[in-house]
Amino acid sequence: MRAIKPAVGEGIKQIVGRFAPSPSGRMHLGNLFSCLLSWLSARAEGGRMILRMEDLDPQRTSRAKGQQLKADLRLLGLDWDEGPYWQSERSAYYQQCLKRLIAQNVVYPCFCSRAELHAANAPHASDGDYIYSGRCRGLTAEQIEEKQRHRPPALRLAVAGEEAFIDRHYGPQHYSLSRDCGDFILRRSDGVFAYQLAVAADDGAMGVTQVVRGRDLLPSTPKQLQIYQRLGLTPPEFIHLPLLLAADGRRLSKRDGDLGLDALLIRFTPEELVGRLAYLAGQIDRPEPLRPQELLSVFDWERVPAEDILLQDCLF
Ligand code: GLU
Repeated sequence: MRAIKPAVGEGIKQIVGRFAPSPSGRMHLGNLFSCLLSWLSARAEGGRMILRMEDLDPQRTSRAKGQQLKADLRLLGLDWDEGPYWQSERSAYYQQCLKRLIAQNVVYPCFCSRAELHAANAPHASDGDYIYSGRCRGLTAEQIEEKQRHRPPALRLAVAGEEAFIDRHYGPQHYSLSRDCGDFILRRSDGVFAYQLAVAADDGAMGVTQVVRGRDLLPSTPKQLQIYQRLGLTPPEFIHLPLLLAADGRRLSKRDGDLGLDALLIRFTPEELVGRLAYLAGQIDRPEPLRPQELLSVFDWERVPAEDILLQDCLF
C-alpha cells in the first residue's frame, strides 16, 4: 500500500494546503466547512495556503463569482499566500499533461452520448460519477475515424489494477480501478478539461502537500493518484471530511438556498458562522462567535468526527 507521508513530523517540509473552490455560485455551508478546516489544518502547523479557482466549466463558473468567493473567504477571516490561480487560464499546461498521458498509450476517444452513458453505466457510489462500461475502449482506427466525422470525442484514461492509499481521517482505502472507478474522462467532448486531470495536475505542480475536502470526493482520489503516478508528480496527504447533512439526513446541495452564504450572512455574523462550523467540527464545546485565528492554538484533527454531521435546526 502506498503510504502518503504526512509532511509534518519530519521537520523538513512546510505544509502547503489549498482552497480549490468552483466559482459556480456563492459558497454554501459545505464549502465553508472544507475551507475552514483546510485553513486550520495548514495554518495550525505554520503552513501555507494556495487559492485556486476551479473555473474550467465556462457554463457553470465565472470570473465574477470567483471574485465574490475571494471576498467571502476574506470576510470569514481565511487568508492565503499564493494565488488565486484560475484553471481557465491553465489549458496549455493541461494540454501538455494530456499529451504525456497520450504518449503512454492509455488514453482513448469516447463517442458515447450523454443518453448512452446514462442508460449503460452504473452510477458511482458517491463521487457523483458513473462507472464507464468501457464501450469505446476497443474501437479500431477505422471506427474512430468514421465516428469522428459525426461528433468530437471525449478522451478517457484506461485504468487497470488497484490503487491503495491512507486517508488521514478515514484510514486505509483500497480500490479496484476497473470495478470502483472505471475509465474516466480527461477532456470532455467540448474540449473542457475534466476535474480529475486538472486537480491532480495542479495540486502536483503547485507543490500542495495536503488536500482537505469532503468525503464525497474520497472515490475520486484513486483516479487522481493514477494521474499523479503517470505524470511523475508527488501526491499530497489526503484528509477527507465528514459531510454536513440536512436535518432529514439529505446531502446539502445548492438547492438548500438558506444554507448559501447570502442567506447565512443575513442571519449570522461571520464570527458566528465560524464558531458554529468549529463547533460542528468538534473543536469547541459551545458554538460561540470567533475568528478562525482564535482556533489555531486548539485545532486538533482527533476531535473532528468521522461520521457525517446532521445539522441541528438550532444551529443553522
Ligand atoms: N473544486 C472542487 C469543489 O469545489 C473541489 C476539488 C477538491 O477539493 O479536490 O467541489
